[in-house]
Amino acid sequence: MPFASPADLSPIPQAEAPRDCPLCPRLVRFRRECRAEFPHWWNAPVPAFGDPEAWLAIVGLAPGKHGANRTGRPFTGDYAGELLYGTLLKFGLAEGEYRADPSDGLRLKGAVILNAVKCLPPANKPEPSEIATCRHYFEEGLASLSKVRVVLALGQIAHVAAARALGLPPASTKFGHGAENVAPGGRILLSSYHCSRYNQNTGRLDQRMFENVFARAAEIV
Ligand code: SF4
Repeated sequence: MPFASPADLSPIPQAEAPRDCPLCPRLVRFRRECRAEFPHWWNAPVPAFGDPEAWLAIVGLAPGKHGANRTGRPFTGDYAGELLYGTLLKFGLAEGEYRADPSDGLRLKGAVILNAVKCLPPANKPEPSEIATCRHYFEEGLASLSKVRVVLALGQIAHVAAARALGLPPASTKFGHGAENVAPGGRILLSSYHCSRYNQNTGRLDQRMFENVFARAAEIV
């Protein structure tokens, strides 16, 4: 199928937000500013990407300005995506070549990527109210992925959003690199430090640590 737009790549189109979703006023203002400044960028809610039959759901926080907000595909085009897609390829969860572009033809196999917040937040920091508002899309998306057995949350905010979506009171869960929590129904919430440039540059997360959580996810299933 010819590539038309990142939204066409969503495995869960029924759970995607409209391009001009009006629900978070601050994010809508920021979206308008970005559209004016960078008219050729995606600048819209970023759809999920991956396999509709995925057993592994990877949950990020929100689109990065020069990554997903620019290209329209989660983690595509930024520093974090290099490690994430490289790891997915290494573990056989992706096939093709990652070229930091949604038209690169990369396909995920057994994995899907979603964000807890679909729109770019200023300074990469969504407000709690924005996380709560986008929760509807996130939870509907996750609920549509019926084969998911492991949810891998990247960072603490994604961990809290994923815990709620899985029916776990966040306060009853523990977050940490490699932390595991069992959700009602037996699905596993596995957590990792976020693969952000900051975490990699400060040594909080390295490639081996990141690969270890993917190895653990594979072991669980
Ligand atoms: S973050 Fe989610 S709920 Fe808020 S405007 Fe974007 S798509 Fe809509």
